[in-house]
Amino acid sequence: MIVLGIETSCDETATAVVNDKREILANRVLSQLDDHRPYGGVVPEIAARAHLEHLDRLVAEAMDDAGVDFDDLDAVACTGGPGLIGGVMVGTMTAKAIAFAAQKPFLAVNHLEGHALTVRLTDDVAFPYLLLLVSGGHCQVLIVEGVGKYKRIGTTIDDAVGEAFDKTAKMMGLGYPGGPALEKVAAKGDPNRFGLPRPLRGRPGCDFSFSGLKTAVRTYLDGFPVEQQTDEVKTDLAASFQRAVGDTLIDRARNAVFEFMRDYPGGKTLVLAGGVAANKYLRGRLVELTDQAGMELVAPPLHLCTDNAVMIAWAGLERFRLGERDDLDFKPRPRWPLDPEAPKRPGAGV
Ligand code: ATP
Ligand code: MG
Ligand code: FE
Repeated sequence: MIVLGIETSCDETATAVVNDKREILANRVLSQLDDHRPYGGVVPEIAARAHLEHLDRLVAEAMDDAGVDFDDLDAVACTGGPGLIGGVMVGTMTAKAIAFAAQKPFLAVNHLEGHALTVRLTDDVAFPYLLLLVSGGHCQVLIVEGVGKYKRIGTTIDDAVGEAFDKTAKMMGLGYPGGPALEKVAAKGDPNRFGLPRPLRGRPGCDFSFSGLKTAVRTYLDGFPVEQQTDEVKTDLAASFQRAVGDTLIDRARNAVFEFMRDYPGGKTLVLAGGVAANKYLRGRLVELTDQAGMELVAPPLHLCTDNAVMIAWAGLERFRLGERDDLDFKPRPRWPLDPEAPKRPGAGV
């Protein structure tokens, strides 16, 4: 079983081919970083145009890498949302056109489901598992009971964790994209120098909050005249910020682990997924928690944490082999919660 995947929901134009033997036959990712860097963030119109310009070529390259023709495919999957509407439309139209022309089944995959299921391609992870989804647009805790069966037990009440990294890095002048830049700088700093808040620590439940942390960094920066904002101040502030994020994630995840182990006695895996899962410091901190709880932490390899099409092809394959298909009149969904039953909360995003 061979599936082509297409990802265009944000600022990576990506294509991939995977099979049901869990082999990645092709994985092309074109980052638009240089297009967006001058603006310090993703500009939706620029992103959509770049996807349009490069996607056809990236599809051809992935098919070439995999050594397959459209005829050899069993299905075509693309990100159907959530994400920037222009990009999602480009990817969806392309995938539908291929599926229609080659007479193959079409699947519109939820981007978050892609992040959520990647570990089942890269590791032997069985359902149910606890999922900490930390990305540019999301910070959620979900119990993954099966393909398409997601129970959300916590979410951010303000910023996503990747967003907090990006905004904090931006105000510290660390460049774009902020997450990896901040991690690099933080590795050299003193994480105890600046006292920063640990929002919601000690409270019941597993919701998150990061905007106060970001504001606290701003307040420290404002307290230093520009000439005193030395590299040392920045590295120490970055390290203090990253530690505060780690403490917050662990505290909230601990409650989630407790709830998961109580309700799913057989479950033993905590999966870390989404772009922020590429952060090695945070991975290390969460291992402390899973070690204590007698659980195992599993995360995709770093290059499959940030956006890619392997995860979309794989999630499409998981759905396809369960007999699922989507219609060619599927409408792109800029907002698309993984768990439709989830209660609406202020600022909770999709
Ligand atoms: P979503 O998946 O919620 O729709 P997205 O697709 O834009 O959002 P991802 O590509 O999954 O996000 O993740 C990108 C985010 O991950 C960015 O906010 C980026 O700063 C963050 N990130 C990437 N690497 C690291 C790192 N090493 N440390 C911290 N954050 C990181
Ligand atoms: Mg991106
Ligand atoms: Fe993502």
